[in-house]
Amino acid sequence: MQSDADKRFARMQKATALHLAMEGEETLQHLTEFSDNPKAMDYFYDLFRNLYKNGHKLPTDKKVIGTMCLQVPDELIYAAGAVPMRMCSGAYAYEQVGAEFMPAKSCPVVKATTGMLHVNQALWGEAVASVVLPTTCDQKKKCGEMLKEMGYPVYILEMPSSKDSEGARFYWQESIKKFTLDLQKITGNKITSGKLQTVIADMAECSRLFRKLNDLRKSKTPLIFGKDIFLVTSAYFIDEMASWRQAVRQLIEELEVWRQNDIAITNRQAPRMLLTGSPPIFPNLKVPILVEQAGGIIVADEVCSSNRLLHDAVAYDEANLNDMAAALADRYLKPCTCPCLTPNTDRNRKLAELVKSHAVEGVIYQAFSGCLPYEMEQKQISNTLSKAGVPMLYLETDYSSEDLGQLSTRVEAFIESIKARRRKK
Ligand code: SF4
Ligand code: SF4
Repeated sequence: MQSDADKRFARMQKATALHLAMEGEETLQHLTEFSDNPKAMDYFYDLFRNLYKNGHKLPTDKKVIGTMCLQVPDELIYAAGAVPMRMCSGAYAYEQVGAEFMPAKSCPVVKATTGMLHVNQALWGEAVASVVLPTTCDQKKKCGEMLKEMGYPVYILEMPSSKDSEGARFYWQESIKKFTLDLQKITGNKITSGKLQTVIADMAECSRLFRKLNDLRKSKTPLIFGKDIFLVTSAYFIDEMASWRQAVRQLIEELEVWRQNDIAITNRQAPRMLLTGSPPIFPNLKVPILVEQAGGIIVADEVCSSNRLLHDAVAYDEANLNDMAAALADRYLKPCTCPCLTPNTDRNRKLAELVKSHAVEGVIYQAFSGCLPYEMEQKQISNTLSKAGVPMLYLETDYSSEDLGQLSTRVEAFIESIKARRRKK
């Protein structure tokens, strides 16, 4: 007989599934109501429609390794015969569940991820062989203890808090070597240099395609909305690699035809924006949608759910395990511009480069309420941009829709101010 606690849990699961389906559909409705979306985006709209309507079923023929941050090298997980799944959630429905475990002021990514793992424990518990948690921000670190209590096997991947010193680099390389050995124990499969080489090449192809797509965003006539780019990269968290690559190839082909025929996705004069800060993850695409509904276009981003996720590829000299593991460690540390690192001045350099390469006119800085690292770094970024003559709008937000009206007024005013700057030039 079901206990009262079991009945309560079943009711909560049902209500969350319903909220999730509504939330996913609502975001998809906003994403698709823009005119002239590329036909190739249908793959991504359908992927999320199906996922949010029918629930997220994990593979049954392979072990799943959950990853709680982009710092975890997926290459090693694939080479160990398992499937990586980035577990950072953007769902408000899950955030509300996670709020039971976390202090009210915690960051929505961590709350939603904890909530998601709690709701799906019975469904995913067997398939998830490990949840890998790099020691990045304090909230991520501490939520590992809660996940352990829920019954998930949690793996702490020790990461240095700086990337500039030899010591930090050595520490991280040792962590990655240890992770390589431990993954083999977790999955029961040997990681060979041949398997790792194949996977590195597969993922390098994902990066190459992403960079190509990202390059199309440099076009003077806007070819794709940023809200769609964030959907494509959110799909990378969960989709099968080969299917994702095929869908991105089709999208690139379609956009190249548009470029050749001088077709633009939107008003050619739309102010060109860059989004940085806390990661937009489907279905929380609230800020990108607001910016583009207000007439701007996000032509570049510096977030860990998009550009930082896919831009860089692994480069190694010798195809032996030792060299490849060291090269993987470098790939995941050197380009990292997460504010968990200190100092993190490399983020200023990266932003300056993106502003130049994508002809950015204004920056939107999104910080999730409760995310101290991004909140604390906003002043430094704002000063750097201001010296370069690029205006920045700082938005503190979360996954709820309560602040929509207030955000939309501020975003509209910001876009108008950029148009006014143009007129003065
Ligand atoms: S914000 Fe930083 S710590 Fe959080 S998921 Fe992104 S890269 Fe990882
Ligand atoms: S958004 Fe901030 S608090 Fe949340 S996981 Fe990323 S760094 Fe940590």
